[in-house]
Amino acid sequence: MGPGGPLDLQNRWGALSASSEGSFPSPPAKQESAVAKTDSREPRPRPPALGSLLALPAVAELVRNHGHQRVLEALRECRTESLAAPARGGARPGAPNPELEIAARAALWLGPSRRLRPVINGTGVVVHTNLGRAPIAAAAARQAAALGSRYSNLELDLDSGRRGDRQDLLGDLLQELTGAEAAMVVNNGAAAVLLALTALCRGKEVVVSRGEAIEIGGGFRIPEILRLSGARLVDVGTTNRTRLGDYAQAIGPRTAAFLRVHPSNFRIQGFTSRAPVGELAELAHRRGLLLLEDLGSGLLPPVLPALSGEEPLRRSIAAGVDVVVASGDKLLGASQAGLIVGREQLLRTLRRHPLARALRPDKLQLSVLEETLLCYANPGRLEEIPVWQMLRVRPEQLRRRALGWAERLRQAGAETEVVSLEGTVGGGAAPGSRLDSWGILVRHPRPRRLRARLLRTQPPVLCLERPGGAAIDARTVLPGEDEELLSSLLEALRPDGEAGTGA
Ligand SMILES: *Cc1c(COP(=O)(O)O)cnc(C)c1O
Repeated sequence: MGPGGPLDLQNRWGALSASSEGSFPSPPAKQESAVAKTDSREPRPRPPALGSLLALPAVAELVRNHGHQRVLEALRECRTESLAAPARGGARPGAPNPELEIAARAALWLGPSRRLRPVINGTGVVVHTNLGRAPIAAAAARQAAALGSRYSNLELDLDSGRRGDRQDLLGDLLQELTGAEAAMVVNNGAAAVLLALTALCRGKEVVVSRGEAIEIGGGFRIPEILRLSGARLVDVGTTNRTRLGDYAQAIGPRTAAFLRVHPSNFRIQGFTSRAPVGELAELAHRRGLLLLEDLGSGLLPPVLPALSGEEPLRRSIAAGVDVVVASGDKLLGASQAGLIVGREQLLRTLRRHPLARALRPDKLQLSVLEETLLCYANPGRLEEIPVWQMLRVRPEQLRRRALGWAERLRQAGAETEVVSLEGTVGGGAAPGSRLDSWGILVRHPRPRRLRARLLRTQPPVLCLERPGGAAIDARTVLPGEDEELLSSLLEALRPDGEAGTGA
């Protein structure tokens, strides 16, 4: 538990006496002293000055999280309230003076801050969309911080001294890693699909297998993206089986391309067939058409056994796909980004399209992506990519870690056992894949309450629902998070009335 956590709240209010370390500029102070003067002749306690309230370290923290104006509003509101009902406020245990009482009321009045903050992923889902998908490599985060806080050569060609193109920065790396002739990067995977379809197929027909006209969630549906791009969807085959012949029959005078889509977050099992990508490419090219592929989760070699269903970009390029798109923050383990690789002439068309400007990536995304791609280009650095580590870790290692946690929690009085669990890749990658995993089950008479409380600890913990308690899968708890996890669990297990309110 670091300083600033809700656990500390009570202590901090208690320890806050008159010593005011944080000095916040306080415009209303003048007006306050007048109030103080009149009050000094009366027996009633005088209302604390806004200036001295703002100087309290706990209030300074509220200002950091909610902004000056909102905290002022809260303090004014709560001060009036506490003047109206001084006895009730003063009698509260743990609030020995009116300033601290007002500050505590203001914290409640403001409610929990909605700020982005780290959350411990106890779900075992490696690429968790609700939790920001892939955590990036430490080196990539450092690179983004170093570049983001300074000027850079984002669009300056240092050789010629002329204006450069941000799309040239990662071209060589992506070509080398995928075997493609050319590459570009846009804001995300959805943008990549939209740009490719708009620039290459607008006003024409695009043939898609019925089993691949999917929705991946968050409003991304292939038929809708196609409509938005101005292309017309021609669906072929059936939900479970689409043969090469189905594609061939759908070709008409207005057909521009076949679109192959990775069936991201579901799997059709049993009596199924999908036209092999190589044969599809051959058919497309024989008939003067393009083959486009949305791979969803980008994957660069080498391939892990758990991901046998995932197709690396290189494989698609080698099979003859003309343009392949993929996400940056799924299995690739980088920032949000959309990778587009393929034939040089087509990529040139994409780069020149007006949408490319609207969908371009910013320097932070590019710096994270660049550093991550460099990890792939240097096999000795693969272990630096957190997604990679989490997919590679052996179950035995996870079990040992869980045993350590359980021991510590038991010592602290928590009813905990080590359990075997099943994680998944997530993020629409390798649907149905199972990752054998281990973790802990923390028992609680009111499991739902425990899980809700874990979302309010500092840091919050997203756990798995299990009868009788909450389970934490060790796979997705990052290496440095053990102590925070244990303290969050103990905080959530504390009997009622002792848990913090959240800042
Ligand atoms: C995830 C995904 C996308 C969208 O990528 P974002 O980076 O989330 O925009 C598109 N298509 C497929 C098949 C996906 O799995």
